[in-house]
This record gives sequence, C-alpha cells and structure tokens, in this order.
Amino acid sequence: MAVDLHIHSTISDGTLTPRQIVQVAQEKGLTAIAIADHDVVAGVEPAMQAARGSGLRVIPAVEISTEYHGSEVHLLGYFIDIESPSLLEKLQQIREARRQRARQIVQKLNKLGMGITVEDVAAQTGQGSTGRPHIAAALVKAGYVSTSQEAFARYLTPGRPAYVPRYRLSPSEAVHEIIQAGGLAVLAHPGIDNAEKYIDELREEGLGGLEAYHTHHSDAQTRRFLQLADKLGLLVTGGTDSHGPGGPSPVEIGSVYVSDEYAAGLLAWAKEHQRA
Ligand SMILES: [Zn+2]
Ligand SMILES: [Zn+2]
Repeated sequence: MAVDLHIHSTISDGTLTPRQIVQVAQEKGLTAIAIADHDVVAGVEPAMQAARGSGLRVIPAVEISTEYHGSEVHLLGYFIDIESPSLLEKLQQIREARRQRARQIVQKLNKLGMGITVEDVAAQTGQGSTGRPHIAAALVKAGYVSTSQEAFARYLTPGRPAYVPRYRLSPSEAVHEIIQAGGLAVLAHPGIDNAEKYIDELREEGLGGLEAYHTHHSDAQTRRFLQLADKLGLLVTGGTDSHGPGGPSPVEIGSVYVSDEYAAGLLAWAKEHQRA
C-alpha cells in the first residue's frame, strides 16, 4: 500500500488541480491519497470523480489553520462529510476573515502613503488564498520595500503600523468541527509547528490521530511520534504536504513512506465509523 494523505491543490495554494493530482498518484501507483487543502474542501469532489473506477482511493480531507498561544497549529480532518453545513459554514467564515484582513492591511498601507490596491495583491496571489506574503510581494513590486522580509519587518508583523490580527479557530474548536462533520481529527506535522506540547490536551478534546510521517520530520521525530501515538492510542497518518511543482513546497507526491499498517488502521477506523 502506498499512500499520501496530505496534498494541496490549486483550490488552496498548490499548483496542480485535483484532477492532475489524481493522475500523478495513478502514475505512481498509489492506493490512497487525500487532498487536504487549507480551510476548503472544494478539491475533494473533483478528485473523487477523477479517481472513480480506478484503484485509487480518495479520502475526503481538509487542513484547518488554527492559532494557540500565539503560534500556528494545523489540524487535519479525514473522512469528513464534505457537505456538512456546519463545517462548510465555518470554513467559509475563516476564508472570509482572511480576505477581510487583507483588505484592512491594504487600507492601513494606503494611509501610510503606499498606493497599493487589493487588485495588486490579488495579482501576487495566483489561485491560492491571500495572505501577508502576497501583500509583501505587492509592496516589493511597487518599489516601497526591496524585499519581502523588509515588508514584514517594517509593516506587517505585530507592533508594526500595518499589522492586523487574524481571526482563527483554536485547535480544540477545529477538533470539534471535524468531529461534528463525522471526521477523524489529526494533529498535522507536530514536528514543524512545535505543537507536540498540545497533544495531551487535544486528545482530551477528541483528537484521534497524529501525522507522524511528514516531509519535514526527521527520522528521529517520526520514531518519537510513532511511539507517542502508540502510547496514547492515537492513529497514525502521513503525507508529503506537497504543493505541486513550482509551488511553495514542491516535494513530489508519494515521496514520503507511510507504512501499510497505519494506512490499514485508518481505513478500519473509517469502516467502523461508517465512513468507508
Ligand atoms: Zn500545515
Ligand atoms: Zn499542508
């Protein structure tokens, strides 16, 4: 069994469409994939349609960005009902808050005498969702700063004049949303978000799994998360977090090994919860 349960498509900030991802996964002989876009599930259905009738299984998924004690924590939801009205409404709210924030930052920059527009920022965004990196890129393009780092340091970070805080769910709210949509809540890449310290707490809220295998986990981290999952009775997931060729994380789909045993554990969970 070869699986990749963490792939981003053009629906969020990846460079391959859901259909192209299915094609790549089929060429590589993968047996299961999950398109886990940021705060959006619209890539799941087209991928399922493209894979229909083939040996490739598409597991419905989402990756929700949350904030906890000032740092970013990502939660993955697997086997979610992608038509769940409460989940769709919450995701919509998160995306709208992000657009709103970008508009507010642009207004602040305008007041500071920098004439960039929401359209200038959109031109830097491509198909993904707008964030501060795109605003920084627009400032570079317009010549107000020479690098993105300078844009962040002078204007876009807490305490700087164009900073606007962002509305986000807490990790436990995201866990509840995922569970409410019938899904399995999994802590994404605990090794890169430094989120390991929240595992116990989130388990009390219903966390069901850990993403032990991830492109940016060292072998030692992977081993530690496998042991931890075993000790805490959590399921194990893994994936590349691929954003497609030329994207922000151009790692190849399917290039992180996820053991059969763990993939089988997930499918057994889904069967038990009638989501298979
Ligand atoms: Zn993530
Ligand atoms: Zn991701």
